Amino acid sequence: MYEQLYPCDHCGGRGTLGFSQRVVAETGSSPFDYGKYGRHAGPPVIGDVMPRPAFAPQTEKLVCIYCSDCGMSTPWLPVGKDEKSAMTRCAHIWNRRLSRPKITEGDLRDLIEKELGACDSQMVIDMLARNDEDWETRGPLFAMLAQRLVDATVSTIDSWPIDPVLKDAARYRKLVQLAKWVDIDGERYVQFPKIPSPSEHDQCLFEDRIALAVDAMPDRDRW
Ligand SMILES: [Zn+2]
Repeated sequence: MYEQLYPCDHCGGRGTLGFSQRVVAETGSSPFDYGKYGRHAGPPVIGDVMPRPAFAPQTEKLVCIYCSDCGMSTPWLPVGKDEKSAMTRCAHIWNRRLSRPKITEGDLRDLIEKELGACDSQMVIDMLARNDEDWETRGPLFAMLAQRLVDATVSTIDSWPIDPVLKDAARYRKLVQLAKWVDIDGERYVQFPKIPSPSEHDQCLFEDRIALAVDAMPDRDRW
């Protein structure tokens, strides 16, 4: 869903999920410090997810979507039993707040917004470059595609970096290139090679160390 959030209408920033809580019940005990945990603590604060002590007034979990740059936010919605659906309702409110034409289900824009991501920009540029007729009708379509790419780039680039995913994909392909079939007792197995991991990488993180080892293998034969 992150990918489908429009950038902030106010500053172009990225929509981010915020969690908090608010009091739903009073304990009834007057000496209790309501200033810190209770109704007098003020409005919900983003990131306030600290569990309350058992003797404090009970709270309910809240979710909102806010702009990480300017702080503009949707109203807080209670999470209830289904966190995912509360998040989705927030996302709809967030997108509705922007002055964009309304999307109906089955709309072409609906399809574009679901299917097109930041990594498809090459494809769209290629389509644009190769189009040489019917600009009158295709123009608005290209505008829709371009708008989606801008939206997706703003909202995904921080939360879901494409670069490491692509690098890992390249490593996997290299491994596949180096894999061999092994037949043992009539069963066929895929065997990946033993990959040397030098001891000077001892201090690296587990994943980083593996990545370094795979990167040091000969490049895959692209023919
Ligand atoms: Zn903003």
